[in-house]
Amino acid sequence: MQETETFLYGAPFSEGGRARRAGGVPCRKKQFAGRFFRGCDIKRFFSIFFLLLMMISTTACGREPYTKTAVVMDTVVELQADDGEQEQAVEEGMAYLKKLDALASQNEGSDLEALRTAAGTGEWVQVSPEIYEMLAFSKDWSEKTNGAFDITTGPLVWLWGIGTEHERVPSDAEIAEARSHVGWRKLELRAEDHSARLTEAGMRVHLGAVAKGYAIDGLRKIYEKHGVKNGLVSLGGSSIYALGENPKGKKWRIGIRHPRADDPKTYLGVAPLSDAALSSSGDYERYFEQDGQRYHHIFDPATGRPAATGLEGVTVVARGEHAGELSDILTTALFVLGEEKGKALIENCGEDVTALFVQQDGTVFHLGTAESGEMPDLKGILEDVDDSVAWE
Ligand code: ADP
Ligand code: MG
Repeated sequence: MQETETFLYGAPFSEGGRARRAGGVPCRKKQFAGRFFRGCDIKRFFSIFFLLLMMISTTACGREPYTKTAVVMDTVVELQADDGEQEQAVEEGMAYLKKLDALASQNEGSDLEALRTAAGTGEWVQVSPEIYEMLAFSKDWSEKTNGAFDITTGPLVWLWGIGTEHERVPSDAEIAEARSHVGWRKLELRAEDHSARLTEAGMRVHLGAVAKGYAIDGLRKIYEKHGVKNGLVSLGGSSIYALGENPKGKKWRIGIRHPRADDPKTYLGVAPLSDAALSSSGDYERYFEQDGQRYHHIFDPATGRPAATGLEGVTVVARGEHAGELSDILTTALFVLGEEKGKALIENCGEDVTALFVQQDGTVFHLGTAESGEMPDLKGILEDVDDSVAWE
């Protein structure tokens, strides 16, 4: 069984209502202030003085978390701030996510739709600073992953429609046609006025593999601005950032999802984390089955089909300014590359990252790991939490 401070995959564990939800119970400090001024004799003064000291110390290091949950960016978002200007941080964080959600959409009038309709015309499209940052970082990593992660995978995402009501297995000809419009080199960027263009008609950008990670980095900055040093942000459980420590003064404990359990609360293991981002990707997140075959949402741009390297899931933990974005991009890239090439990428990428490759071997999971920089081996720190799940 998990301990109570475990942050469940996709949903924070509320410890018997300890968390102060938005609009919840008022702060204890206020109730105490009235009592303090009623005391006048020395004994009473000292007892109140020590009580006050105790209150200050528990408030300073054990303040009740402020949490909020909402459905944004097509997923369940949980924001928790344990100190600093908790409420402002969480509220501003939620507003920021809603803004990003609208910016990253493919709807009429959006930056991405403008890019798509201008594709092949030679026209530059000025995009919002947030979209530009995502495009620039993504293009860079499309190159570094040798196109395993490709920010212009849009035509394939659109064609297969995995997770939508249009999902289907396309014909070979359709796949070849869509694949011919994928290629990060054909995305051009102009930093001076944060403009972008796609050089061929039929191209489109898709931010599905990076937007949540980018959002995590933005949330961390918002928390910093509000003096929050301890807290947790989770976007659907697949992109998480753990700040500082949990209310028990220990590392946050993040459950890594079992890729084949029906119950998303069955974990492969739990990773203790502090000041790091964790992302997971797998063939279990969005998929459909046809004729006994699983078709999932992570495409190999080289084949135009769902990546098939034997992996069921990949988890990446990263540190640094772009920890969220990087871990999100890398999980997708590693899933496409497979364990062997994925390990080589991680070990030579020059970032503070550690990765876990999950492959099933009968009823036992084979966990492969790779790390670089100062990150510990993720398998080495993984805690076993469920006797029914075996890994080696
Ligand atoms: P999630 O966290 O939502 O499960 P991932 O981070 O695993 O998403 O990214 C998968 C999404 O990224 C897909 O739904 C699709 O939109 C997009 N995508 C799929 N394959 C690639 C790829 N090779 N490169 C870039 N984006 C991709
Ligand atoms: Mg990803």
